[in-house]
Amino acid sequence: MPSISTMKSLLSTLRTRSSPLTETLIPSTSRTKLFTRFFSVPSISSLRTPTRLRSTVVSATSPVSFSTNVLFNGKDLPMEPTAPSGEIHVIVGPMFAGKTTALLRRLQSECDNGRKVAVIKSNKDTRYGLDSVVTHDGVKMPCWALPDLTTLKIKLGAEEYEQLDVIGIDEAQFFGDLYDFCCKAADHDGKVVIVAGLDGDYLRRNFGSVLDVIPLADSVTKLTARCELCGKRAFFTLRKTEETQTELIGGADVYMPVCRRHYVSGQVVIEATRNVLETQKLMDSSDLEAAAVPV
Ligand SMILES: [Zn+2]
Repeated sequence: MPSISTMKSLLSTLRTRSSPLTETLIPSTSRTKLFTRFFSVPSISSLRTPTRLRSTVVSATSPVSFSTNVLFNGKDLPMEPTAPSGEIHVIVGPMFAGKTTALLRRLQSECDNGRKVAVIKSNKDTRYGLDSVVTHDGVKMPCWALPDLTTLKIKLGAEEYEQLDVIGIDEAQFFGDLYDFCCKAADHDGKVVIVAGLDGDYLRRNFGSVLDVIPLADSVTKLTARCELCGKRAFFTLRKTEETQTELIGGADVYMPVCRRHYVSGQVVIEATRNVLETQKLMDSSDLEAAAVPV
């Protein structure tokens, strides 16, 4: 039976001796607070038989960056302690759902917190001029009207782009480079990117690349409007005119928000009207041709 002083000396040795793995971890973890590594020391009575030291890793609550390498697939991956952390937030919904209002509200709040903000919209949408983003109820914010998103850095210059904290993109369905831009801005440049756009076109198909950025996003919000025909929640945009191209920029004169029931019945009516008009056109042109033939 070992004496108490022998046991104390053994305990002291155990506390100071560490394996090669713990030797590399202890200096790093004690600096960073992210992990606390401690040993569960066996009781004195259990020391009679050889016992393996058990180690436990406990997460601390404070999110402090750490400067160590991590093992991934057997390889050492360096962590970048100063790498900026960006975010992507996506706001979708039909027309008249308040997407631009939600975007501007969020951007205004970022401005109020002293963050540097840039707003981009497509130069295809000239409804309210090219120098500002304007909601359907008249709220506005100065913006860049651009043909594509990568042009922003060229327009601003590298230094000013570097200082930006938040980038808001309105009518995002019009930008073909949305996916690549969001990846770079959030993953590599540390920007907060807020994307607002239509998720579907008037036929409820994907519109542009808006749905492509959802896997990249921190958050996705689908807003709804009010059905113009019954007042229920509207998820879809019905085109009231006979044009069939996907991109047709217009307001309440061309589009209306509708619920599912009125989308389906509205599409039937519009298809029927379109067919009648097509038939009428054909009949008119054959009448004209017949009239042009001398009798
Ligand atoms: Zn309805």
